Amino acid sequence: MTERVVIIGGGPGGYEAAHVAAQLGAEVTIVDTDGVGGSAVLTDCVPSKTLIATAEVMSELSGAAELGVNFLDSEGDAATSIRVDLARLNARVKGLAAEQSSDIERRLTRDGVTVVKGRGSLAGPDRVVAQLDDGSEQMLRADAVLIATGAAPRTLPGAQPDGERILTWEQVYDLTEVPTELIVVGSGVTGAEFASAYLNLGIPVTLVSSRDRVLPGEDADAAKVLEDVLTRRGMNVLSRSRMESVTRDGDVVTVTLTDGRTVQGSHCILALGSVPNTDDMGLEEAGVILKDGGFVNVDRVSRTSARGVYAAGDCTGVLMLASVAAMQGRIAMWHFLGDTVHPLDLKTVSSNVFTAPEIATVGWSQQAVDAGELQAEVVTLPLSGNPRAKMQGVRDGFVKLLCRPGTGSIVGGVVVGPRASELIHPVSIAVAESLTADQLAQAFTVYPSMSGSLAEAARRLHRV
Ligand SMILES: Cc1cc2nc3c(=O)[nH]c(=O)nc-3n(C[C@H](O)[C@H](O)[C@H](O)COP(=O)(O)OP(=O)(O)OC[C@H]3O[C@@H](n4cnc5c(N)ncnc54)[C@H](O)[C@@H]3O)c2cc1C
Repeated sequence: MTERVVIIGGGPGGYEAAHVAAQLGAEVTIVDTDGVGGSAVLTDCVPSKTLIATAEVMSELSGAAELGVNFLDSEGDAATSIRVDLARLNARVKGLAAEQSSDIERRLTRDGVTVVKGRGSLAGPDRVVAQLDDGSEQMLRADAVLIATGAAPRTLPGAQPDGERILTWEQVYDLTEVPTELIVVGSGVTGAEFASAYLNLGIPVTLVSSRDRVLPGEDADAAKVLEDVLTRRGMNVLSRSRMESVTRDGDVVTVTLTDGRTVQGSHCILALGSVPNTDDMGLEEAGVILKDGGFVNVDRVSRTSARGVYAAGDCTGVLMLASVAAMQGRIAMWHFLGDTVHPLDLKTVSSNVFTAPEIATVGWSQQAVDAGELQAEVVTLPLSGNPRAKMQGVRDGFVKLLCRPGTGSIVGGVVVGPRASELIHPVSIAVAESLTADQLAQAFTVYPSMSGSLAEAARRLHRV
């Protein structure tokens, strides 16, 4: 008998699960409101990383003079003769996101997946009701349901976005004029990425951070390097500054802090975290237990408390990354359809903060070592000593490896530098496969290359 799988939400949690389920012979339907690809493709990862691609070009050009490149109309400083065309940049962002969404839909259709455009909710653990755009309803019977509805930007009563000058991260791509003074509220990953990107696009940025430092959840050494670079490039970083409200008067946006201070600018981006899209979906009525904050409670094979109902991605709040959402979705389908399945292991997830420099991390953190959660030797090497870094004018950044003292196996790593997202991969393989520092050290690296520093750090962990 063919199993019927209905997936609510077409982001990476949903569409990756759909491919697996289709491959394993199930009859698959995705119900999605905003377009397949989800927020990941339409408003979050893809748009922000496309914006950041332009910011990287600007940043590299502004350092070009040191490497002997001058623009014809500016002797010495390339930075003064370039400026961003925000309207064109944003048009490119939206075009690319729409194209990727269409690509994903085409691939789903090719795999035989039915895509229903509408809002899905549960009418029991084995029934999904899709409210279609024309107002009609479609009832879909399911042997398994996957909830993959994602999350939306958190807003506060005193800081309501208006879509023009007070913006969520989903609204920034409607800007056609360059902000003259941008305030970013929130110094987690999203806030830091936007603050860094707009700074590199040549826009004055103030970053309002309620904590002691930017990126409170990341490696402390990495966050320090980033904060130093941002302030050196002219960003105004306000730490221990909690936002009370954001208001707008004409062209001026005012952020009022809880201690009474105010910051004014032309635009403000709110990066205050996310809330799960789990309201009014009949989840609890169908037996799906929600955790604090409305996130769906799941185990490591993506099962909820209701039999046959799985959940994946941001709506579970497990780890808000597209890669994790996709893996949770695949795991759910492997589990339901009886294929080999390994429970989700967060200690092997590699992630990246797309600031300049980038910060990539995998496995156990130094914070866990310092807190006595595990024993590990830690070696940190600054990139400033790396020959390739010198050639490219790169001074900021480091590689850090963590290894078990007894077995010598690599349990974690951090890379801070340009393209850290690419450089972390060998460390990620080492962590996933429990390779030793010696094994990592013995593999050839290209000379000269930034990855040479990873091998060098591994050599320093050798014990006789
Ligand atoms: C600015 C920003 C940048 C990011 N960059 C990265 C990055 O570089 N790398 C990375 O790994 N992660 C990144 N993330 C995180 C990543 O975007 C999320 O982890 C990912 O989108 C989660 O995927 P998902 O499938 O759970 O949900 P989503 O991608 O949010 O998709 C959910 C879909 O479900 C639909 N939906 C919601 N409710 C219903 C309903 N009732 N019925 C039908 N459809 C519904 C939504 O419209 C949406 O299409 C970023 C996040 C932000 C905010």
